[in-house]
Amino acid sequence: MGNRAYNFNAGPAALPLEVLERAARELVEYQGIGMSVMEISHRSKEYEALNDETQALIRELFGVPSGYKVLFLQGGASTQFAMIPMNLLTPGKSGSYVLTGAWAEKAYKEAKLFGDVSVAASTEADKFMRMPAVSEIVVDPNTAYLHLTSNETIEGTQFAEFPDTGSVPLIADMSSDILSRPVDVSKFSLIYAGAQKNLGPSGVTVVIVRDELVEASPKGLATMLRYDIHAKNNSLYNTPPAYSVYMMNRVLQWLRDNGGVAAMEKRNIEKTDLIYNAIDNSGGFYRGAAQPGSRSRMNITFRLASEELEKQFIKESEQQGFVGLKGHRSVGGLRASTYNAVPLESCKALAEFMSDFQRRNG
Ligand code: PMP
Repeated sequence: MGNRAYNFNAGPAALPLEVLERAARELVEYQGIGMSVMEISHRSKEYEALNDETQALIRELFGVPSGYKVLFLQGGASTQFAMIPMNLLTPGKSGSYVLTGAWAEKAYKEAKLFGDVSVAASTEADKFMRMPAVSEIVVDPNTAYLHLTSNETIEGTQFAEFPDTGSVPLIADMSSDILSRPVDVSKFSLIYAGAQKNLGPSGVTVVIVRDELVEASPKGLATMLRYDIHAKNNSLYNTPPAYSVYMMNRVLQWLRDNGGVAAMEKRNIEKTDLIYNAIDNSGGFYRGAAQPGSRSRMNITFRLASEELEKQFIKESEQQGFVGLKGHRSVGGLRASTYNAVPLESCKALAEFMSDFQRRNG
């Protein structure tokens, strides 16, 4: 398909072209059953097989050890901001949060509605333009968990290394970098991610959770907001978002067929180096927003000398087929999101456009 845009959207974001083409072929008739995957019961053997295979793919690709459940929930990562404290902040317990930007703050504020919370580290004094060093994070051994955001989608920062929290369960919002690089899942007690960046379309949220935490849900909590209910029912307590799960399955197969997470990381480094080099070699024409040691391999944030020039950049980039380069409204500037499915060619084209734009306006 020759007229696909250079898609740098922050989420929902680019999907692999091969997956979209396969989905188009499989849309009307799924695996010879005479109908689409959206028209069958979630209790059918075909859907159960899809559900199980998709969980198995996540386990295989992400290296999830035994002793964890893989759940497919609804309500986005935002619902996890509430479900985590609702399930884990039993009376007398508090949760600890690492404040690194807009998404970490949302998780923290939501948890405040349900219990005591404290701040384990914050980079607000640096306008959230960096991630804290592991040594800056104070782990209180009495907290129910420590929550962090592995990649801040808006600010364009990413943890290079995760803290060792000992016996305190570590929880991570990996919405914007799940499966983009290898992670030692055994360090975490709960990992969650909305699908619409690296996993597929919106509509499904993946939760990878240790068995011990699943068992902690207090009695009296709304049924749909309990981890134990979803775990016991293999994520089929109620009607699941079948098409989102199907699409995620096809994205995960694509990921596996393209070398898995290690290959994705290599490609993501290659892709983002092209753009970071265009910034760093511009003699100050482009300025990276995030501090160098905290730069994200998923969301590249940068600025130009004036907002006027930034507007000009966006306008011209759109004329040349680039989409999604405007920074989040809360921080301004420019942002290129380079999730797994964004091809190297798009990043090459952007780096070239950046040099060209500088030549004309520098
Ligand atoms: N956390 C992070 C890091 C995100 O980037 C987002 C979405 N951009 C969210 C949480 C919220 O996700 P959702 O819209 O699925 O609730």
